[in-house]
Amino acid sequence: MSGSGGTLRQAAQEGRIVTITCRGCGHGASFLASDIAAFADPDRPIEAVRFRCRECEGQAFDVATAVFDRDRKPDIIVWRPTRLR
Ligand SMILES: [Zn+2]
Repeated sequence: MSGSGGTLRQAAQEGRIVTITCRGCGHGASFLASDIAAFADPDRPIEAVRFRCRECEGQAFDVATAVFDRDRKPDIIVWRPTRLR
């Protein structure tokens, strides 16, 4: 299953990433669910966690979660050939 739903505790146990996008200005941020659970009530639904946008002070967000795959190599790694000098 993808998308949102469930409690923060469940998401943290599944090692999910929570991505929130501000409806006011489109500013987005991603967090580990376990990090959010450290300062919010873990038994609340993820959608019920209150955020405040750094950019516009908005408090309406779209929330999505994704499974964080520890085995997948990050896309940002660039393999560079080495040359003998
Ligand atoms: Zn905003």
